[in-house]
Amino acid sequence: MTAGFQELSAGRGFVGRLETGSDLVEEIERFCADHEVRAAQVVVIGAVRRARYAYYEQDDHRYLELESDTHHEIVGFIGNVSLRDGRPFLHAHASFADASGATVGGHLLRGIEVFAAEVMIRELAGVELVRTPDAATGLALW
Ligand code: ZN
Repeated sequence: MTAGFQELSAGRGFVGRLETGSDLVEEIERFCADHEVRAAQVVVIGAVRRARYAYYEQDDHRYLELESDTHHEIVGFIGNVSLRDGRPFLHAHASFADASGATVGGHLLRGIEVFAAEVMIRELAGVELVRTPDAATGLALW
């Protein structure tokens, strides 16, 4: 069963780097708001000084928040931008690797402190992605 697929086309593209010490999620959302990016695919590579992420408990419909204050590489990152409450909202999941190569990860939260981050934002044109409450999951989905 599918839930409303939309055909999209490529919009604008942006590449750039986030400043050391900045908040990963906040900065990407701020950039999208400033540039009126309403839907996008986002890829990031880099490293963080502090990670904040969450695991969604499907039975309880709530996020279990997790954190790590050690330095990590961003070894995987997939994200999208859509509208939530009328503003660009970044939904991203990532894997973080520590000095031993061990990984943690999950749904990204605010409070991730960037060490270095190269960001690619691919705007998605011709679609309207708006998050609204979904009763089956308890999440705000397209
Ligand atoms: Zn998520």
